[in-house]
Amino acid sequence: MTKKASQIIAGLALLLLNMGGVQAHESTAHYMANEGLMVEHGDTKILFDPLFRNSYGQYMLLPEELEEALFAGAAPYDGIDAVFVSHHHGDHFSPIDMVRLLREQPSIRLYAPNQAVIAMRSESSNNDADIFERVTAVNLEYKDAPVTLNMEGLLIEAVRIPHSGWPTGRLDIENIVWRVTLNEDTTVLHMGDADPNDVHFAQDAQYWNRNNPHMAFPPYWFFSSSSGREILNNRIKAKRSVGVHVPVTIPADPLLRPVELRSFDLFTSPGETRTISTED
Ligand SMILES: [Zn+2]
Ligand SMILES: [Zn+2]
Repeated sequence: MTKKASQIIAGLALLLLNMGGVQAHESTAHYMANEGLMVEHGDTKILFDPLFRNSYGQYMLLPEELEEALFAGAAPYDGIDAVFVSHHHGDHFSPIDMVRLLREQPSIRLYAPNQAVIAMRSESSNNDADIFERVTAVNLEYKDAPVTLNMEGLLIEAVRIPHSGWPTGRLDIENIVWRVTLNEDTTVLHMGDADPNDVHFAQDAQYWNRNNPHMAFPPYWFFSSSSGREILNNRIKAKRSVGVHVPVTIPADPLLRPVELRSFDLFTSPGETRTISTED
């Protein structure tokens, strides 16, 4: 190789390194299944609703390889900092599997509604006392003020929004909407099975007016109801929204979807990603 050629290669290598550096400050959302997601910013990685066992005959389950990588802490699920659970329903949360994940990955911290943590305690043994030192239970009633929690690299905000079916069904379920800011840079919103009625959001208008998410992950029914779309546009005001909890019968190809879902971005295939832009 000539000296000139080796200089060019060294220059290219340096350029690639620099590009890598820029990309490290971008955030990415990785779809797992149903409402399961990973969001990463630099070295910070968080998961929402990652472990569940029930498809109720219509929602996507985790592919086996993905689940194995998660328990093993293998890429891309290596170095997970925190896990957030929206609510104790079988298509979002499996208590026994969450206990196992915390046992096998001793650096993960868990944030979950009290109801979910109580279910985990009944699935754990006396030897598991130490895993609960890494668990934060949020105990919120409907209409309680949102709460703020902090851990290194994360600003965590939580509010209880009733489960869909309000005001007649599933009132006992503690559904938590998590707003999480990674490294004071990227804010995301995970909504669980929130009910799309503006009355739940109107009472915390100031809360929703600040720290607007760069990306929100509403259940798809926020797109197909006019009140859901109004909440997204007028309260949450995310720069971008990607729908989750999409039944397997709804195709990835927008043109083949029911007409009311054609113009929205939906997560439908495990492993697909979106770049989260923080530019204005
Ligand atoms: Zn639910
Ligand atoms: Zn659900």
